[in-house]
Amino acid sequence: MQEIFQIRQNIWHIQDATDVFFTLIFGEKHALVIDSGYGKADHRSLVERLLSTPYTVINTHGHPDHTGGNSQYDAVYVHPADLEMARRNGSLDDTHPVLKPLSAEKTYDLGGIHVKTIFLPGHTKGTVGFLCEEYRLLVAGDAFNPDMWMFADNHDTLDTLAQTLQKALSLPFDSYLGSHTTREVPREFLEDALTNVLRAEVNWNSLQTILGKETYEIAYEGSHGRSSIRIEADQALKLAAEKRRGFQTTLLHGTGRPDFPAGSTLSPVFQASAFRHDTAQEMANIFAKKQAGFNYSRIGNPTIRTFEERITQLEGGAAAVAFSSGMAAITATFLNIVTAGDTILSTAGLYGGTIELFKSLSRFGIQVSYVPVNDFEALEAAITPTVKLIFAETISNPGLAVSDIEKLATLAHKYKLPLILDNTMASPYLVRPFTWGADIVIHSSSKYINGGGSGISGIVIDSGHFQWDPQRYPSLEPFLNNPAGLPPFAVRLRSDLLCNYGACLSPQNAFLNLLGLETLGLRMEKECSNTMALALYFKTLPGVTVNYPGLTENPSHETAEKILEHGFGAILTVRLGTREKAFRVMDALKIPQIVSNIGDNRTLVVHPASTMALHSTRQEQEDAGVFEDLIRISVGIEDIHDLIQDFDQAFKSLSTAST
Ligand SMILES: *Cc1c(COP(=O)(O)O)cnc(C)c1O
Repeated sequence: MQEIFQIRQNIWHIQDATDVFFTLIFGEKHALVIDSGYGKADHRSLVERLLSTPYTVINTHGHPDHTGGNSQYDAVYVHPADLEMARRNGSLDDTHPVLKPLSAEKTYDLGGIHVKTIFLPGHTKGTVGFLCEEYRLLVAGDAFNPDMWMFADNHDTLDTLAQTLQKALSLPFDSYLGSHTTREVPREFLEDALTNVLRAEVNWNSLQTILGKETYEIAYEGSHGRSSIRIEADQALKLAAEKRRGFQTTLLHGTGRPDFPAGSTLSPVFQASAFRHDTAQEMANIFAKKQAGFNYSRIGNPTIRTFEERITQLEGGAAAVAFSSGMAAITATFLNIVTAGDTILSTAGLYGGTIELFKSLSRFGIQVSYVPVNDFEALEAAITPTVKLIFAETISNPGLAVSDIEKLATLAHKYKLPLILDNTMASPYLVRPFTWGADIVIHSSSKYINGGGSGISGIVIDSGHFQWDPQRYPSLEPFLNNPAGLPPFAVRLRSDLLCNYGACLSPQNAFLNLLGLETLGLRMEKECSNTMALALYFKTLPGVTVNYPGLTENPSHETAEKILEHGFGAILTVRLGTREKAFRVMDALKIPQIVSNIGDNRTLVVHPASTMALHSTRQEQEDAGVFEDLIRISVGIEDIHDLIQDFDQAFKSLSTAST
């Protein structure tokens, strides 16, 4: 478990579980990670999880040759002298696109918070400081870490240390923070240290001789009062949530003003198969991807593009590709990276359509192995050299098992496998799987995203974070390091799977999805609370067992509490004892409709065993949580008392009929 110390509202000191610590400064748009353990630990996902929002994460540290973890960041800035030294040593991986030289005296806008870089002398070849302008606080690397001075003879001489301190004291700031300290250092402390350094009374192995007192962290009790406070992770989450726009506001307004023709508030429906160009050259440029634009709606269309961009933003990904259905999106995702001889490792109890797809893929030599949801030992044991990806559903349908996405991602990444998640049942309102480390997310947008049950569609979102090994994923090789810097998975998905297999979304359905999307937050909020109320009501009925992750006794409750925000989903199942009773209750309902769909504004009921799971064996059905006496209820936004009353009369009719 990481420990978090809040230095200021937007400045935290984080010690992660592996005992690597760093300073995090974040604004609305970007997060700056200072001195993060040579960039080796997986701090990006830690930061994204804590801030639970898509971030450009920038690391700065003095080790350009430690390329191991650099690629996790959007950019790694290093002191130009460090870059130069690594280059001279021959240890710099020059091809690494994230490495950039830091410029002195440059102000970076993190979104509401500004940091200005200052080069300080000393500490090998110079060290970097960040002035947080809003807080009048100077953050620097080891230069202000008293405990680092203990082995300062590795890095500094008395002269360079004095220069660092003098320069820092010459700057008009009030407070100082070392990137590895949990408290800010008052000016008085640096003055004391400087005095002692100038008196040359320094034995490098004794901090006390520099400071004249014990280390700041342990014993300094100065009158300059303010120090950091330790905060718990969930408190950190709450603090982070306060500083970002709410889900519903973002849904309606995005991050900027829309730019639709004639000032239209909604995206027009570009109901056209193809797009005209003024010159042959312009068209050639668009085909060659040298110029943005549209040619043919199978490959791209402005309404579809707007939908893709909205979903990319909602999920916090790098790019998205829309498809004609959820199944088309799932099929294309797999075919993008697997081929004959490969294995898909999947959790069991999947959506019926996906199980049928897997059976069909076996004809092409693609194997699937199943392990139970959240059985990580079985999962690890099932990882063989032919496994190319791990697939799971956030909430399984209709088993309602909630996957611990964090643990799945950790295991997948240990074996350098991507984690692909079907997030249909949860929707981005309940969880954004990238914040837990997932690599690719798929939605059947026919469901909650559309909301009104007005059109079939699917979408795949690429986080852009997974490092695809060209040997293991040869289909992606031509797309790695593409000139536009786009995520290779999404680029191939569009240019091959969408373009050549042809399962494109219609502009009209993209528009209906955009319309539905505007109320995703409102709908989910109401549907989740209705579902909770219904679950509690079903618990009071004799002879009925209810499965809903929101109930504390539910086997998935603990994971659901960890993974899901805002609610526990809008699907529940009930078992009534016999298939006959299940059918009678369904037939007696006056409000819920008998429909094999989910995520509609209306409440829908279905008997999975005789419908979606019809072609599965009994064992497959039970693995998927499907039983003869089970009804699945997709709860809508009706008034809850009407729903409860209706179910009540339906259940009462059962006992009247049997007496
Ligand atoms: C509905 C659904 C699908 C398939 O999506 P379509 O849009 O119907 O093709 C895939 N996964 C889950 C979890 C679903 O509920």
